[in-house]
Amino acid sequence: MIKFSSSFECGNGKNFCHIKENRYRCEVSGDKITYCYYFCFDIKNEGSETEIDIEIWHDPDINDPEGFISHFPTTIWVSTQDINRFHPLEQSLCTVFKDHIVVHLNLAPESIMRITNNWPSPYSDTCNFIKKLADERTNTEVFSLGKTVLKRDIVGIRTGTQGKPRILCLAGQHPIEFPGIWAVRTIADFITSKIPYAEEMRKNFLFEIIPIVNPDGNIAGRNCFTEEGIDLYQAFGENPDAEYPESVEGRLLWKWATDKKAALWINFHCYLGWRTNSEYPYDGWYQVPYETFSDIREREIYCLMCDVMRLLTDAPSTSIEPTVHWINSLEYQLAKRYNIPHVFYEINGGTAGPFQSGKRGLQVFFNTIRTLEHYIR
Ligand SMILES: [Zn+2]
Repeated sequence: MIKFSSSFECGNGKNFCHIKENRYRCEVSGDKITYCYYFCFDIKNEGSETEIDIEIWHDPDINDPEGFISHFPTTIWVSTQDINRFHPLEQSLCTVFKDHIVVHLNLAPESIMRITNNWPSPYSDTCNFIKKLADERTNTEVFSLGKTVLKRDIVGIRTGTQGKPRILCLAGQHPIEFPGIWAVRTIADFITSKIPYAEEMRKNFLFEIIPIVNPDGNIAGRNCFTEEGIDLYQAFGENPDAEYPESVEGRLLWKWATDKKAALWINFHCYLGWRTNSEYPYDGWYQVPYETFSDIREREIYCLMCDVMRLLTDAPSTSIEPTVHWINSLEYQLAKRYNIPHVFYEINGGTAGPFQSGKRGLQVFFNTIRTLEHYIR
């Protein structure tokens, strides 16, 4: 007897069914066009050792098979003994079709296996990680931006020197873009560590770091949305000139960035898929036109940050030019209205679990902050 479940933190998968002997089928649960590719579910084998095929289909409610399949092929992660510890499934065991993929699995007797295409960093585990850091390191305090729609705290850490330029660092706007969250967790670890570079950075800046800005979406295993069904990246929705973002979480982020002067906004996202137009590790980055900044000094800093992205990170491995931000994004509006420079980096989760994501995120953070340090000096 084989049983399926996605009823757990960061779970995604629906309409599980048995098609024929040793063959099963399910669908992903998407949010909107393109944002409809993530899955994470458990397979419980209550019998003896067996081999099965599972068809994983695009979400018929969104009906964007192309958007779904554009994220494949990618690394499929399967758990071993520990349900939250994964290893990559051998590539030959996953076949990609136009509108679905088929995964071939060998199930041990009386076992549970978790399978996903993006190694999760769940909200509860991330909160524990942050609290542990703050307990162990006297230079660090935990803070909350406020509550989500479902009354969960948007938790972060603060470290560094009050009165120094404020660096804001975040991830998880698109909740299941876990590589961004892993990156920010590593950054939090680094910046509160005893490494001399980190100590120096803490003297020169105040850091506020939030790994998961959309906890409700994270727990629900959503590709894109908040609990209210809003895309937190396109925070101003249909009205880029509106006074405030649309969602509860968007307004909290806006207040965070604008109540007190922010020197830099560092935001991590992710996508999946081994793309044919790029070279390993396929990361990417976004920018706004330099002229978006009216303040000459901030524009100069922004140009520098863009040079860092281009020259000192892995981002240009996905394409030669950065993607241009939507005008309804926080990045665009913070640049235009408040002259706040940003760094916006996309890790390819197809080539990164927690450890690679952490390393690439740290490379972005380190080179950005070192550059800013030299500029300010
Ligand atoms: Zn994203």
